[in-house]
Amino acid sequence: GTHVAPLDASKLVVNLAKTLKPLVPSEDLIFGETKTDHMLVVSYEPATGWSAPEIKPYGPLNLDPASSCFQYCPNVFEGMKAYLGPNGEPRLFRPDKNMERLSRSVERVALPPFDTSVLLELIKRLVMVEARWIPSEPGHSLYIRPTVIGTRAALGVAASDSAIIYVIVTPAGPYFRGSVKGIPLLAVGESVRSWPGGTGGHKLGLNYAPGFLPQRIAAKQGYSQILWLLGDDAKITEAGAMNFFAVARRDDGDLDIVTPPLDGTILPGLTRASCLALLDGHTQGRLTLPGIALTQRLYTHERTLTMSEIAAWSADGKLLEAFGVGTAVIVAPVGRIGWEGKDLVLPSEETGLGPVGKALWERIVDIQVGKVEWEGWSV
Ligand code: PMP
Repeated sequence: GTHVAPLDASKLVVNLAKTLKPLVPSEDLIFGETKTDHMLVVSYEPATGWSAPEIKPYGPLNLDPASSCFQYCPNVFEGMKAYLGPNGEPRLFRPDKNMERLSRSVERVALPPFDTSVLLELIKRLVMVEARWIPSEPGHSLYIRPTVIGTRAALGVAASDSAIIYVIVTPAGPYFRGSVKGIPLLAVGESVRSWPGGTGGHKLGLNYAPGFLPQRIAAKQGYSQILWLLGDDAKITEAGAMNFFAVARRDDGDLDIVTPPLDGTILPGLTRASCLALLDGHTQGRLTLPGIALTQRLYTHERTLTMSEIAAWSADGKLLEAFGVGTAVIVAPVGRIGWEGKDLVLPSEETGLGPVGKALWERIVDIQVGKVEWEGWSV
C-alpha cells in the first residue's frame, strides 16, 4: 500500500514571524484573550498521513465549510500551563498526563490516532519559541491549548478520516485576581453535564456548549459556577470546569476529604489526581503539607457524594471546606452552595481557602514552578 506518514517531530518546520507583537502588561491579561506570535499546526490526510509539523505565525485556519468539526463536533482539546522555574527555564506540570487524556479523547470521537509523546515534543518546541510570553510574576503562566479537529469535508454522518492538530498558547494571570473570597455555586440537577455511558469522562468540545445556557441562568441569580448534579439522589459530579472536593471533620478530629469517583461521568482532572496524591502522601508521612500539623490525618475518599450528605454535614457544623480544582484555578474555595431555594454557607465564604485547600494550592504551585521537587511532576 501507500506510505502513511506517522507524526514526526524531526520534520518540524519553523517559520518565525517577521515582526513580534508587544507583550501585554500582566495586570491587563484576561484569560485566553491574548494571542502570542506563533502556533503549531499539523494535518492528517488518509492517503498521506501526517504532514510536516509547522510552527508558524499565529493566524486563521483555512477550512472547507463542510468540515465535520463544524457539523458533528469531533473536536477535542487539552489545557496545560508552562511556568518559569527558579533559573528562568520554562517548565511543564505532568504533561504526560495531559497527553494520555488527549489520546483517550481522540479515540473516543474516532479521530485519526497519533503518538502523543511526539506531540509533547512539538509542544515543548512551541513553548521555547514563545518563552518570552511566559509571565514571570508569581501565579502567572502561559496557558497551552492543544486542539484536534476533524476536517473531513463531507456532510455524511461519519467519523472524520482527516484532522488538524493545532496548539495555541496564551499568557494567563492568576484566575482570581484580587479576590480571595469563596465562590458561590448553584447546584443544578434539571440540566445535566454528563450521564452514565456518556462522554463526561473525556475532554471533548461537545461537552461544554450545553452548559452555557444553565451557566448564564445561574450567573443571573448571582452564582459564579454550576455544581453539576446527577440522578434522583442529587449526586455531586463537578463544579463548572473543576473537580469538586469537600472536607468534613470526623468525631475523632481527623478529616475526611471526599471527591466523586471517576465513574465515567467526571473528567479525570490532573489537579484532582495531584491533590489526592499529595493528601495521601501527607497522611503516609512521605511529605508535609504547609500549615497542616504532621499528626493531622487526611483520609481521602473517591466515592459518591450527595447534596443531602453535604447539607447534613453543613447543619452539623462538620463541613469545614469545599473547593474546586483544575489547571486554570489550581484550587478555588467554595463560599456557598445554592440548593433547593436555600444557600449552604461555608466557612470560606468571607475568608477564602481553608487550611486544606490552601496547603494544596501552595504545594502544587511550589512544585509547578520548581521550588519543590516531587516525583518528577515538573519537567
Ligand atoms: N472538569 C472539567 C469539566 C474540566 O474542563 C476541567 C479542566 N480541564 C477539569 C475538571 C479540571 O481538570 P484539570 O485538573 O486536568 O485541569
